[in-house]
Amino acid sequence: MSRVVFREERCKGCLLCTEVCPTEILVQSDRFNKQGYKVVCVKNGDMEGCKGCAFCAEICPDEAIIVYRSKKDSEESEELEEAHV
Ligand code: SF4
Ligand code: SF4
Repeated sequence: MSRVVFREERCKGCLLCTEVCPTEILVQSDRFNKQGYKVVCVKNGDMEGCKGCAFCAEICPDEAIIVYRSKKDSEESEELEEAHV
């Protein structure tokens, strides 16, 4: 399974990432960062729907998202590497 990590302090709440996610797992949370922006999170914290496509990381203007993909193309693999954007 792939994993998405947010650098929340960089987020400006533009929601571009929520628009490009093909599985629509990214949503705006109720939490504000120190800059006063509502940060994005994974819906119900459920990463199952993440395909590791890194579209979210690519479109984020503030480099607030890091996507980790399984090194092997296996759902069981725990070994993750950062997706190149
Ligand atoms: S990597 Fe792709 S599927 Fe996963 S959260 Fe980002 S846009 Fe959605
Ligand atoms: S694209 Fe980046 S700055 Fe915009 S809401 Fe998503 S994480 Fe925040």
